[in-house]
Amino acid sequence: MKTVMTVRGPVAPDEMGFTSMHEHVLTNADFYMEEYVPVLGEPPACVFPSAPQDPVRMEDLAYLNHGYFARNHDNWDLSDETLMMAEVSDFHACGGGTILECSAPGIRGDVSGLKRISRATGVHIVASTGLYAEKSWPARFLDASVPQFMAWMMDEIENGIDGTGIRPGQIKVASNANTEAQLDFLRAASQVSADTGIMVTAHLGVGTNQEDSHLVYKTLLESGMSPEHLLMCHFHGKVQITSLDMLLDNAAAWAPQLDYAREVLDQGINICFDCFGQTWDTEALGSVADADVYKIAAIYQLVNEGYGEQIVIGTDVFLKIMTRRYGGHGYVRLQNYVVPTLQRIGVSDAIIARLTVTTPARLLAF
Ligand SMILES: [Zn+2]
Repeated sequence: MKTVMTVRGPVAPDEMGFTSMHEHVLTNADFYMEEYVPVLGEPPACVFPSAPQDPVRMEDLAYLNHGYFARNHDNWDLSDETLMMAEVSDFHACGGGTILECSAPGIRGDVSGLKRISRATGVHIVASTGLYAEKSWPARFLDASVPQFMAWMMDEIENGIDGTGIRPGQIKVASNANTEAQLDFLRAASQVSADTGIMVTAHLGVGTNQEDSHLVYKTLLESGMSPEHLLMCHFHGKVQITSLDMLLDNAAAWAPQLDYAREVLDQGINICFDCFGQTWDTEALGSVADADVYKIAAIYQLVNEGYGEQIVIGTDVFLKIMTRRYGGHGYVRLQNYVVPTLQRIGVSDAIIARLTVTTPARLLAF
């Protein structure tokens, strides 16, 4: 029988309950600071902004949200087990059953901590093998071949992560730029999925254009994996225009852009609408926040077109300012806003159960 591999061992798919399919519990992606900070430039002097080494403070929340989230080490640091245990407890208190933890090596935290949090809160947590974007790769992977990538992932899947015995339940891949090394890694992930049935979550960077994201899913599918096991995350970024200039130039850009979603869904691939509750943007670069109402409107349209079995949701908490204890919505945005809003606009309970229970269990079981 197929099972879901959690940090506390295998669990029957029908025990997962309400599942968030894209989260980070213990993570640190501050390698992004190097990328963002030079592009952002210096913040305006009149707001007395915090320095990169300052802790996240109440008076800096608006500054960090609107343009400069990346310019603060502490904001990237989600390694405080006490903090994240409280956040996961909130998820449980609102009926949450399972979290898919999408922090792959490069940004992955202590998986033993995930097990402690899972045990204390009662929430199932599924950890990830794989690799995050190439710039975050540990040095030993920079020259790896496809068979070496495969052997390493298989070792984590069969024997556990870093000697802990804790086994991952999915492969995370991320491509912000399709370098040859990055494409080789996608080929390896695809073959491991084909061999084992383990699901693959593919992250496409904020700036990824359509051509790049085509190449990511085509490379994955051509290397052997089934589209049923593939989940493309952050798909809200592909249905909403977030460039102020494009919105000014073209009034039609205000509507959800669904053609690309249909193209992907028609191939049997699954998509995740996540980042619910996030209000950050990069105003300094002319980029506006993706509003939750757009994501809801896109889901509404797509489920009405019959794609309700291939869509899942998450909040993708990846910064301190996204946790409830630092002024964000936390993981509970799904239960507090998304589900009640879908109900209010007439999405059936059967479809909501697909988005949050049945499709997650199907994807995670192998
Ligand atoms: Zn993420």
